[in-house]
Amino acid sequence: MGNILERNLYDIVYDSVSQDIYNQMSEINEKCQNCKWLKFCGSGCAYQRWITGDVKSEYYACKMRRELFEYVAEKVKPHIS
Ligand code: SF4
Repeated sequence: MGNILERNLYDIVYDSVSQDIYNQMSEINEKCQNCKWLKFCGSGCAYQRWITGDVKSEYYACKMRRELFEYVAEKVKPHIS
């Protein structure tokens, strides 16, 4: 991508390599597309999905995240009117 000491941030963010990675990471699997926690989770860690070689792979901590969000929602629910 780039070294901030050698190139300005704008050029790094908007070069074709960065944009290609960003576009790839915008793709998420069907399970995440239909997940009620997507806005909070974001389909897991983009880097973790990227290093698997399949950006649409299931995030390894998906089950833990869903359980965590359910737990937090139950705890917060009584305080929301
Ligand atoms: S909790 Fe699991 S299914 Fe839902 S958005 Fe996150 S990774 Fe995807």
